[in-house]
Amino acid sequence: MAAILKKAMSGLLDKMLGTAKVIGVNRWEPETMVEIDVQMPGLNMDKWKTIHRVKCKVGELEYRDYTPSCWNAEKGTFKLYVEAGHDGVGSRWAQQIQAGDTILLGSVHASQIPVKEGKVLCLVDLSALGHALSLKQLTDHTKFPLEVGVFLHESYEIPQVLINENPEFEFLYRENEHNVPVLEKWLMSKKLANYESICIAGNTPMVSQLRKKLKAIPEVGARILAQGFWS
Ligand SMILES: Cc1cc2nc3c(=O)[nH]c(=O)nc-3n(C[C@H](O)[C@H](O)[C@H](O)COP(=O)(O)OP(=O)(O)OC[C@H]3O[C@@H](n4cnc5c(N)ncnc54)[C@H](O)[C@@H]3O)c2cc1C
Repeated sequence: MAAILKKAMSGLLDKMLGTAKVIGVNRWEPETMVEIDVQMPGLNMDKWKTIHRVKCKVGELEYRDYTPSCWNAEKGTFKLYVEAGHDGVGSRWAQQIQAGDTILLGSVHASQIPVKEGKVLCLVDLSALGHALSLKQLTDHTKFPLEVGVFLHESYEIPQVLINENPEFEFLYRENEHNVPVLEKWLMSKKLANYESICIAGNTPMVSQLRKKLKAIPEVGARILAQGFWS
């Protein structure tokens, strides 16, 4: 019965999704981080005022959310950053994807962005790199100066273009250290009273632990926007 319902739901969902083309794939070193360039001319990206997610069909009756970033509304293109180092349907989909593939996806709102002008601190893991890049694209940097700490669980070679275009992003890899202690050390090096907003996204336990720690710090007056992705 559950399988029949799942199939019916999937049929409905497929009808709501649109066809997009993979126009480029770049795998980092190690290859477990995959950048996927997508073109979907029908998607109205000009209307994106909040961080979006695209629901992708990643297998038979399987759908996963990924965050579109670096979009160009005129060309109808955007980029997905997919972490694919674990065993999962979405991960396997990203491991085998190639330029020229056709994919099914639909875009919806995912997260709010800061509204009160002032400095923004952003704490993410690599699965939420797209989230931080999307936040950057949606905000005016003169009114919302941004600093981003990205936790890396492996010693990746970060593409030089990504480093050059995003000097406000710090990529944090510490051998044998976990997400929360690394990001906590980084945020404690900041003058926390100076921030109006703090955005946290990625692994759900990491997001909730960092949120809890920030809430317990008296000088933090910032609004905290938290979004857990996976656990
Ligand atoms: C709003 C939103 C936006 C998202 N945007 C992105 C994005 O831009 N990029 C991205 O990579 N993911 C993103 N995710 C997470 C993504 O949708 C999937 O949940 C995740 O990729 C896992 O799917 P999967 O099928 O590979 O693994 P699952 O089948 O869901 O999980 C299999 C196993 O792998 C573990 N696991 C899942 N993800 C990871 C990971 N990243 N690292 C290590 N272990 C993991 C799980 O705990 C589980 O044990 C987003 C999620 C949400 C809700």
